Amino acid sequence: MSGSGRRVIVVGAGVVGLTCAVRLLEAGHRVDVVARDLPLETTSAVAAALWFPYRAGPQGRVTAWAERAYDVFAGLASDDRTGVRMLTGTELLRTPQPDPWWRGAVPSLDRETVLPPGYADGRTFSSPVIDMPVHLRWLVSRLEALGGTLTRMNLSALPEDGSLVVNATGLGARHFGADPSVRPVRGQVVVVEQVGLDRWTLDCGADEGAPTYVVPRSNEVVLGGTDVEGEWSRTPDPAVAEQVLHRAIALVPELEGAKVLRHKVGLRPGRPEVRLERRGDVVHCYGHGGAGVTLSWGCADDVVDLAGE
Ligand SMILES: Cc1cc2nc3c(=O)[nH]c(=O)nc-3n(C[C@H](O)[C@H](O)[C@H](O)COP(=O)(O)OP(=O)(O)OC[C@H]3O[C@@H](n4cnc5c(N)ncnc54)[C@H](O)[C@@H]3O)c2cc1C
Repeated sequence: MSGSGRRVIVVGAGVVGLTCAVRLLEAGHRVDVVARDLPLETTSAVAAALWFPYRAGPQGRVTAWAERAYDVFAGLASDDRTGVRMLTGTELLRTPQPDPWWRGAVPSLDRETVLPPGYADGRTFSSPVIDMPVHLRWLVSRLEALGGTLTRMNLSALPEDGSLVVNATGLGARHFGADPSVRPVRGQVVVVEQVGLDRWTLDCGADEGAPTYVVPRSNEVVLGGTDVEGEWSRTPDPAVAEQVLHRAIALVPELEGAKVLRHKVGLRPGRPEVRLERRGDVVHCYGHGGAGVTLSWGCADDVVDLAGE
């Protein structure tokens, strides 16, 4: 344990807030998390969640955060209670592409030679897949075991009681932190029963179109998705669900006939770039777009460094 032992209030109990809280506690700070929505009610609970740098910038910092988080998740995968598994899968591409800008974040990445019709290239690699309800519960148990607290509280302004504050409010930062550059990017998923899948498949979509992904968990499979900027509705749209199912089955035919378990919508905290900086007694850490899980442990380490300054 190291650190100044300062009191820190983390605002936000999604994956970003909770991961920061755990790391701050490990560094020796006293941490209280306050949040309007408890972990299982957040956008984070809806995430698929595949480690994959998507809709987040800037590229250099995102690659470094993603690489750090990849390593941490790979370590957590040996413990079932964390909800993390390492699974091999393929990102399918309609045209041949060079290596992705985040290539440095993964230890190895192979070109796929066996491709479904309509695809010209593919990148196969082992990636963390995180069962978010399980992972969020595990993060809360870590927080509590380390002496932290979690309290439901809808704040109208950041606390100003002399504590250090971590602003991990995701989309809430738009109103809460008066940051209009944070915008919702609506994502809808369909969760179906497991049909024996142990590989993930992703097609990021041509021409900024909707991504299609199939992300298996131990007991179910998450099918996505959509990617609608500026849309605030959290009500699942049945027509969209049909399209998602159709695209997922086209990608992975074994899904044909799988029983639908539930429909979910989440609002990604979109921002041109992740905001991770300290201003006085506030460390801002929000705007992770489609990669909040992917970046979580990397960003948390930077938050701990900023808290110690
Ligand atoms: C369909 C879908 C699929 C996704 N798939 C992936 C994926 O495969 N991989 C990946 O890495 N990412 C994925 N994401 C993105 C990921 O979910 C987000 O980037 C991530 O959840 C952001 O986490 P967060 O903790 O910043 O925000 P959130 O989870 O939204 O948490 C924000 C917290 O702040 C609190 N808060 C806000 N305002 C206030 C206030 N005024 N007072 C008190 N508390 C407040 C909220 O209540 C909440 O507790 C996906 C998202 C969606 C919607």
